[in-house]
Amino acid sequence: MSEIKKFKLTCIICPLGCPIEVTMEGDKIMRVTGHRCPRGYEYAVQEVTEPKRVIMSVVKVKGGIFPTVSVKTDKPVPKKLMPEIMKKLADVEVEAPVHVGQVIIENILGTEANIVATRPA
Ligand code: SF4
Repeated sequence: MSEIKKFKLTCIICPLGCPIEVTMEGDKIMRVTGHRCPRGYEYAVQEVTEPKRVIMSVVKVKGGIFPTVSVKTDKPVPKKLMPEIMKKLADVEVEAPVHVGQVIIENILGTEANIVATRPA
């Protein structure tokens, strides 16, 4: 029999911030309580099985007004890929001008998320 674990989360999908508790036995979801809607259920299950985050960082700019430009993923990516993505971004240098929303890296690490600029440079 696998170990039973309980995870307490606060749902971040809407301002109500419902406190959610997920009970797992091994890799299996046994019980989810505290959510008031299906979106909260989905959030909690994803958070305990494969958490995702929008990643924000900066990349170097060549010949721009500023030496760097802020960037982010255009959708949440698996949190476990964060160190690898940050390492990749540290090696990137883009040519100015950079526009807001410009795709800096397409489909980063096969996640189907793009790295996009969040300000001009
Ligand atoms: S569970 Fe539903 S109602 Fe509660 S915070 Fe999450 S999205 Fe909002």
